[in-house]
Amino acid sequence: MSEAFSATPPTELLAALAPSAGSVLCLGHVHPDGDVLGTLFGLGLALGAAGASVTFAGPHPVPETLSYLPGADRWQVWKAAPGTFDVIVMTDCPNPVRSEGLLEGARGAASRVLNIDHHPDNRRYGTINWIDPSAAATGEMVFDLLRALRLRVTPAVALNLFTAIHTDTGSFRYSNTTPRTFRIAAELAAAGADPALVSDRLYQQRAPESLVQLGELLRKVRISEDGRIAWLCVPRGFAHRDFLDAEDLVGYPRSVRGVKVAVLFSEEEPGKVKASLRAKGEVAVNAIAHRFGGGGHENAAGCTLSGTMDDAAAALLQAVRDALGAARP
Ligand code: 5GP
Ligand code: MN
Repeated sequence: MSEAFSATPPTELLAALAPSAGSVLCLGHVHPDGDVLGTLFGLGLALGAAGASVTFAGPHPVPETLSYLPGADRWQVWKAAPGTFDVIVMTDCPNPVRSEGLLEGARGAASRVLNIDHHPDNRRYGTINWIDPSAAATGEMVFDLLRALRLRVTPAVALNLFTAIHTDTGSFRYSNTTPRTFRIAAELAAAGADPALVSDRLYQQRAPESLVQLGELLRKVRISEDGRIAWLCVPRGFAHRDFLDAEDLVGYPRSVRGVKVAVLFSEEEPGKVKASLRAKGEVAVNAIAHRFGGGGHENAAGCTLSGTMDDAAAALLQAVRDALGAARP
């Protein structure tokens, strides 16, 4: 088992995905995003074309915005795993708890769990763990994996991996974007991923009333007196889940000049508040999220807090102020 970070797929991972490996489950985590789904479908479709028996499933459905991904029609939403699988692939999932019990249910004594991820805080819960925090998206890793496995990158596979990279890099704008990102994106475009189609599906398919809702929400953006923290609270019932999935709302407080840390709070159910944190390099927001049981990347992290919206926001914003105070030169 490989424990170090590595930018190349371990040889035991290649062996575990050989055509003789048996039944393959591509398993997603809670509220799957473009990187999770794009990599599961990209890898799963390529393995399926090579003869593998592949199942796609997770605890939550494919968000409407991502329903264009090839393979989405095969996605199953499970409350419990219906049986065990020889191989279970999890991508972009740092913590097995995020499968909501599905990993435990699908994992038999002889199952091989393949944990492929770019989060530095990955818990290494797999039989084989391939963790590369230098990758902007797990999509980059899966592209290199397919090349190492000599599997064909069809247009359907390419569209999935291009979407994975597109979404995790904020359309190639965030600091995680590297020359490797562009090299792989170029190869995916050459293999049939249409960048204009991806932009259209992700950003040009709003419901007519969504701009009104966006306008109402943007009025709620708050900025701290020193201008370094901006946040937005979305009360429960204020916005539909599809809308929240599609809008990347935390990008608006993040976009204000001088803001170092942006936070989106959304009340998922009474007493349960999800926080999405974004930074621009000054403080590592995954360290803040860790303190509240969450995690993520230095510049993009999340956690779930219990309590009212006001209490949750007060506690997390205080932690952000403390972190910024410590970071002040
Ligand atoms: P988002 O804010 O878009 O939901 O997530 C940003 C990043 O933080 C992603 O890399 C995601 O995996 C991570 N993240 C979000 N929420 C949680 C959480 O509750 N626990 C952990 N461990 N990571 C999270
Ligand atoms: Mn990712």
